[in-house]
Amino acid sequence: MKVGVVGGGQLGRMLGLAGIPLGMHLRFLEPSPACPAAACGEVVPTSYDDEEGLARFIDGLAVATYEFENVPADTAQWIAGRVPLSPGVRALVTAQDRITEKSLFRSLGIPVQPFAAVGTRREAEAAATAIGAPCVLKPRRMGYDGKGQCVITEPTKGSVEGRVVEAWESLSRVPCILESFVEHTAEVSMIAVRSRPPRGQPTTIFYPLTENVHREGILWRSIAPAPCDPMGDLDRQARAFVQRLVDSLDYVGTVAVEFFVTSGTLVANEMAPRVHNSGHWTIDGATTSQFENHLRAIAAWPLGSAAMCTGVSAMVNLVGCVPSTAELLAIPGARVHLYGKGARPGRKVGHVTLCADTPARLEAPLRDLESRVVWA
Ligand code: AMP
Repeated sequence: MKVGVVGGGQLGRMLGLAGIPLGMHLRFLEPSPACPAAACGEVVPTSYDDEEGLARFIDGLAVATYEFENVPADTAQWIAGRVPLSPGVRALVTAQDRITEKSLFRSLGIPVQPFAAVGTRREAEAAATAIGAPCVLKPRRMGYDGKGQCVITEPTKGSVEGRVVEAWESLSRVPCILESFVEHTAEVSMIAVRSRPPRGQPTTIFYPLTENVHREGILWRSIAPAPCDPMGDLDRQARAFVQRLVDSLDYVGTVAVEFFVTSGTLVANEMAPRVHNSGHWTIDGATTSQFENHLRAIAAWPLGSAAMCTGVSAMVNLVGCVPSTAELLAIPGARVHLYGKGARPGRKVGHVTLCADTPARLEAPLRDLESRVVWA
């Protein structure tokens, strides 16, 4: 089966690696021919708006998908008009705009913090008055890894309104969302996969809730099942919320929804309509990885179990610099995944997974791993 993937970064590479044993042939639409996914499939090196390149990309494909959520909506629509595209265009455009995304969450009864759209100076002032400090101003679109976000605390001099206007001006007055800062004890994500077979009912499977720690807005470490949820209450809440979301979008494929944990409850932050960094542990720690299940879902094949094949699993990202592979492999049980990318500050270049029977057995190797990983 020929599968097209828009984007050829590390997520494409891991989709490619998952597709090979299933007999899939992956083709990536990616401007840079030397992209990480090139190691495991064919690359159509074209820009996302080049119709002639897009035609070459879709030629002979059974299905198509994408591995980043900033795919231009017109490109997605063009492909979806010719080849089944999963997840669908509605999920993509919803996730591309933080206001649309949070409005959908709210309409489905998924808790979100107070938020308001900021497109003019007057809206910036009104939003600041309604939401107050502390709050966070973020561009509505094209956001990732906390880029371009301003946290606004209670000013000692001047007004919150003035600070929000200043922050909006510093973001070149692009359309923004102002949301209240959520005091949280942890951040978690729920990764789910929904399939819609041609005959029969849609099925959704859920991986165990994953707890995530970020540095400078970039994911540093994930642990599953989430240590902050020993009784599984948050896991149950998250499953119910994500089930509503994927049903409302008639979603097909892997989705990740990130939440803040505050006073034992969840507040939804954002969704990613694709495989997700906080699910990389599933390659080594789950019966079927998020990548394989994404491919199975878009191909309308039966999904594999999302159960853990170990008691606990941790993933640490390699950001900005790659330690020696031999040194990482010296940590008992370490599984190293490198993306074939040059090191650059703030750039994800790989990850390492550890699995153990119990959280206690994970402690020493995880400490060892974290001490060897340099964040740059
Ligand atoms: P995002 O791009 O929305 O995922 O934000 C990146 C990171 O910034 C999140 O994972 C949080 O650690 C932090 N953050 C973003 N928005 C908020 C908020 N409203 N309240 C508290 N922390 C936030």
